[in-house]
Amino acid sequence: MIKAIKGTRDILPPESALWNRVESTAREIFDLYSFSEIRTPIFESTELFARGVGEDTDIVSKEMYTFEDRDEKSLTLRPEGTAPVVRACFEHQLRHEMPIAKLYYLGPMFRRERPQKGRYRQFHQIGAEVLGSDNPAIEAEILEMLQLFLVRIGIAEHTLLVNSIGCPLCRPPFLGKLKEALVAKRALLCADCRRRSETNPLRVLDCKVESCQPIIDSLPKISDFLDEGCRAHFDKFLGYLDAREIAYQQVPRLVRGLDYYTRTTFEITSTALGAQNTLIGGGRYDGLSEILGGPPLKGFGFALGLERIVLILQETKKIAETAPAQLFLAPLGEAAFEKATLIAKFMRAEGIRCVLDFEARSLKSAMRLANKLQTQHVLIFGETELQNSTYQLKHMASGEQTELTETDLRSKLVLGRLKGSF
Ligand code: AMP
Repeated sequence: MIKAIKGTRDILPPESALWNRVESTAREIFDLYSFSEIRTPIFESTELFARGVGEDTDIVSKEMYTFEDRDEKSLTLRPEGTAPVVRACFEHQLRHEMPIAKLYYLGPMFRRERPQKGRYRQFHQIGAEVLGSDNPAIEAEILEMLQLFLVRIGIAEHTLLVNSIGCPLCRPPFLGKLKEALVAKRALLCADCRRRSETNPLRVLDCKVESCQPIIDSLPKISDFLDEGCRAHFDKFLGYLDAREIAYQQVPRLVRGLDYYTRTTFEITSTALGAQNTLIGGGRYDGLSEILGGPPLKGFGFALGLERIVLILQETKKIAETAPAQLFLAPLGEAAFEKATLIAKFMRAEGIRCVLDFEARSLKSAMRLANKLQTQHVLIFGETELQNSTYQLKHMASGEQTELTETDLRSKLVLGRLKGSF
C-alpha cells in the first residue's frame, strides 16, 4: 500500500481536535490585538526565498523544495511565511489602507530537514507580522500576546529568550571581530562552522553541534558592539517587557536561522519538547523589504510551530477530546429508522450533536455503542412507539428513562435538556 512521504504526517482524530483548538485560540487572541488574517500561496518564485531568507542559510542552501514549472520558471514550496507576507503587502499596497499592517497567517511550510520528533518536512506555522513600525513597544506587545496565547491553551511553562543582533551599521565591526576569533579556533570547529565562518560567521552562533558549544561561548558578543540606536532600542524593549511583568533571559548568541533579522530577536522554548525545544521564533526584519526589491519597511514578527505546541499539549495530557454526542438515536426496525433520520435532521438544525445508528442493531448493542461513545442521552423507539408516537429518552449517566410525545420531543424543555450537561 502507498504510504505518506517521509517527514509528513496525517493528523488524525482526536489529535485534529487539538489542532482546531490551538488554531481557534490563536485566531481569538490575535483578534484581540487587532491582527487580520492573510493567506498567501503555498508556492512562490524561488527568488523570493533565496533573497529574503538568505543564500547561505540552511533553509535556502539545502532544505527548499524547489522545482521547475512547465515554463521553466523556478518555484519553491514556501519554507516560511514572512517573505510572502511582505511581498503581498507591497503587491496589494496594503499599507495605503493600514499604515501599520498587523497580519497573521497559518498553514503548512516545507523544509527538507532530517525528520525527528518535533521536526518534519511538511510542518505548520502560525505567524504574525507587524509592518510599518520600528517601535519597540510593538515588540513587547507581541510578546504579551504570545504569553496570553500560551497560557490560554495551557502551556504555562515556557522561557522567553531575547537578544539584539544589531543593524547593518553596528554589525560589521562585530562580524570583523567574530571572524578573527573564528580563524583562531578554526581547527576546533565542525565542518559546517568552518564553512560558515567564511561565508556567514553569524550562523556559527546558531550551531547545535556539541563540540562547537564551548567555542561559541568564548566568541565576542554582539551586545558589546551595539551602536547607540540599537542599544537604546533594545533597552526600551526590555523596559517594556519589565513593565508588563514578562520574564525573559538575555542570550547573546541568539541569532536565529534566517538572514533578514535586525535588532530584536527572540525565541520561546519549552523543556517539555526535548531536542527540538524552540516553540516560537521571531524578531525584527527592517531590511527585508529592500532585500526583496521594495521600498524601506520596518517589520517585526514571529512564527510558532503548531506540531510542537500540539506535542506539548499531548505530553502534558491537555488533550482536547471531541465533545461526545448529546443524543444517540437508536431506532428499532426499518420504519423507526426512517423516522430517526428526520429526527436527526431536526435535532442537528437545533444545534444538538447527534449520532444516528445506521446499523440495524439490537437494543443491547445500540446501548453498548452509545456507552462507548459517551453519549449523554439515547432516544429509543420501535414499532410500538411509532404507532403511539412516543419515544423513550434515556439519560445515560443516571439511567433515568422518560417517555416523550412527538410534541415533547420538539419542546424547548427537552431541547434544553439535550443541550445541557445533565
Ligand atoms: P523558524 O521559521 O525557523 O524561525 O521557526 C519557527 C518555529 O517553527 C520553530 O520554533 C518551530 O516551532 C517551527 N518549526 C520550524 N521548522 C520546523 C520543522 N521542520 N518541523 C516542525 N516545526 C518547525
